Amino acid sequence: MKIQKTEEILLHSCCGPCAEYPLQQLLAEHYLPTLYYFNPNIQPQVEWQRRYESLAKLSDLMALPLVAVGSAATEQWLALPDQAERCRFCYRLRLEEVARYAKENGFPTFTTTLLVSPYQQRELIVEIGQELADSYGLNFLAADWRPGFRAGQELARTHGLYRQRYCGCIFSLGESSFNEQIRAEHARLEQGMSDRI
Ligand code: SF4
Repeated sequence: MKIQKTEEILLHSCCGPCAEYPLQQLLAEHYLPTLYYFNPNIQPQVEWQRRYESLAKLSDLMALPLVAVGSAATEQWLALPDQAERCRFCYRLRLEEVARYAKENGFPTFTTTLLVSPYQQRELIVEIGQELADSYGLNFLAADWRPGFRAGQELARTHGLYRQRYCGCIFSLGESSFNEQIRAEHARLEQGMSDRI
């Protein structure tokens, strides 16, 4: 018997690879996901674009809608008064925009692919997500997708998606052991973009 999908859900998506496993789970649970790409923390802009294109490829492959807004906001991160609080700021900024969009567009529930990553601060994400859900009159799906992180990365490899090696903000790029290699890739991509203009 074919089971009808019953509930729309807005899935904040930080990138293609991290969306793989959550999408499998949501579809298995009969949700109708819409991908929402709002990630001003992904810096510089060339990296924002690269992760967006990877997510757009997945959205095409799975025939799921994708909404993308904003751009890299490096200056906003450089102006933060307390670097120790940068992740709290980052999660709240992104999830608040997702909650706002969900409310305005009739999604009863929202969640985030950040919940698949063992490298993110799950408790803090859930705390902020639930607080925003309460204040916007929505549901926050606090799934624990971390057991599927590796499987999602493998799926991303199969789909030929770009897989990044740093969290996103300019500070996390500086902390990455691949820092120099990534900056060289960015320079090449930027050069390629300017050659096309
Ligand atoms: S390390 Fe990651 S979660 Fe924390 S501020 Fe940077 S991009 Fe955001």
